[in-house]
Amino acid sequence: MENKKEYRNWLDAHKLDHPLVIAGPCSAETEDQVLKIAHQLKDDDVTYLRAGIWKPRTRPGNFEGVGAIGLKWLQRAKKETGLLTATEVANRTHVDLALEHDIDLLWIGARSTVSPFIVQEIADALEGTDKVVLVKNPVNPDLALWIGAVERFHTANIKNLGVIHRGFSTYDKSKYRNNPEWQIAVDFQTRLPDIPLICDPSHITGKRDMIFDVSQTALDLNYDGLMIETHYDPDNAWSDAAQQVTPETLLQMFKDLRIRKEYD
Ligand code: PEP
Ligand code: MN
Repeated sequence: MENKKEYRNWLDAHKLDHPLVIAGPCSAETEDQVLKIAHQLKDDDVTYLRAGIWKPRTRPGNFEGVGAIGLKWLQRAKKETGLLTATEVANRTHVDLALEHDIDLLWIGARSTVSPFIVQEIADALEGTDKVVLVKNPVNPDLALWIGAVERFHTANIKNLGVIHRGFSTYDKSKYRNNPEWQIAVDFQTRLPDIPLICDPSHITGKRDMIFDVSQTALDLNYDGLMIETHYDPDNAWSDAAQQVTPETLLQMFKDLRIRKEYD
C-alpha cells in the first residue's frame, strides 16, 4: 500500500478539506429535491454531494431508487453549485453509467462489501480509474472481509481509495442502528494507515439526535472525514427518514464540532 504522504496527495490533488465532508440525501427522489439540497449545501463545509440512486434495501417492497436518471440530476447539481458528486455502485452496469456521467466519487455499500464476487466485478470495472472510491465496511463485523475488499481495489490500481465506517449489524437490541464497534475501525487504521477513513454517523446511529456525538468521537479518533445524510425535509424522506438532518443542522454541527487541524 502507498504511504500516508501519498494518501495525503490524493486529498491534496483534489484540493479536499480535512475533515472531508460528504453530505446529501440518502436517496435522490426528484430532480428538484437533489438541486434544492445541493444549493442549500454549497456554501457549507461540504465537498461532495451524495445521493443514492440504486438503493440496496434489505427487504423488498421499499423504494429502490430512481435509477440512472438520477445521474443527470447529480450532473446538473454539480454544474449549478460546483459540488463534486458521489453515489453508490453495486455492479458493473452501475459503474459504467456512473463513469459515463462523470460522477466524482463512487462508494461500495455495506451489502456489497460482503460479496467478493461483486467486489471483484466492481474493481475490474473501475480498473485504473482516478475517481475516488470508498469501500464501506461489510454489514457483519468482519475486519478481514473489509480489508479483502480494499485489497481487490488496490490490486485494480485504484489510486484514490478510502473506506467508510458505517457500523455493524447485530441481532441484539442496541441504541445504535449499526453498532460502531470502534475497535474494528481502529484496527483497520492500524493495519492500513495509508487509507483514509471516513465515518458515516447516519447509518451507525439511525437517529439524527445521536449524529453529533458519533461524529465527535470519529474526529477525536483521527478520522479523515464524515459522510452525513442531509435532507431539507428529513421526516418525509423516501428512505432513512429518522437519521437525516437538515442542511441548517449540518452547518451548525460543523461550527460546534471540535475539529483537529493536525492529522499527523
Ligand atoms: C447509504 O449510504 O444510503 C447506504 C445504503 O448505506 P449502507 O451501505 O451503509 O447501508
Ligand atoms: Mn441511507
